[in-house]
Amino acid sequence: MIEVRELTKRYGSATAVDRLSFEVGPGRVTGFLGPNGAGKSTTMRALLGLCAPASGAALVDGRPYASLRRPMTRVGALLDASAVHGGRTALNHLRWLARTNGIAQARVPAVLEQVGLAGVARRRVAGYSLGMRQRLGIAAALLGDPGVLIFDEPVNGLDPDGIRWIRGLMRDLAAGGRTVLLSSHLMSEMELTADRLVIIGRGRLIADTSVAELTARH
Ligand code: ADP
Ligand code: ADP
Repeated sequence: MIEVRELTKRYGSATAVDRLSFEVGPGRVTGFLGPNGAGKSTTMRALLGLCAPASGAALVDGRPYASLRRPMTRVGALLDASAVHGGRTALNHLRWLARTNGIAQARVPAVLEQVGLAGVARRRVAGYSLGMRQRLGIAAALLGDPGVLIFDEPVNGLDPDGIRWIRGLMRDLAAGGRTVLLSSHLMSEMELTADRLVIIGRGRLIADTSVAELTARH
């Protein structure tokens, strides 16, 4: 469960997110739609405790990220800038994440298999394509088997196979009862993946609607 309540975030005199409120529940993919600069990443970063709001709250399972116990078992995220030191292998990276987050090591081969990286897990990440790095980022998000998943523009820069794979994965995660929030600046992407839409512009809520309702109005 995700709750954004009257969230406001400023950078200097610019207001990136302006009294934004919405909730995201389990069982469907919720799209977070808005043009570049609308405040999507800022909101997601607030949910992940990566930026402090000026006022309001960004909560996962009723708590701010910083007060979640074993946060990786509650919420997994793929952010635009998620990066892994290139000298490490995928296997080492995930083992280290599991060790430092109280997650069973048995989850490592499971998520490598789930994202299709099992065969290349012992290679250095420096040699990975963008698509393989996205898959590794998703493996890290899934490692703690969290109930809440936050994906910031996950299809950016991927080839068609990778895009289809990520779409299917998000739908499967939602069908399995997880809470999935997905950002995009493309309505075309949302029509293919999301069930419900939270639309923002200039940091403010514009609409909170179902994709079916929106597309039926043409
Ligand atoms: P989106 O993800 O929808 O593209 P962002 O949340 O990245 O939007 O950005 C919202 C607004 O906040 C934009 O005007 C952006 O320029 C500004 N912004 C985002 N991050 C920073 C930052 N670290 N410093 C200053 N301004 C920022
Ligand atoms: P390894 O399993 O590769 O031997 P260690 O657990 O011994 O790694 O980690 C060595 C150091 O590097 C530690 O300080 C650890 O915090 C850091 N570290 C290990 N893996 C990563 C990673 N994937 N990303 C960032 N830091 C890491």
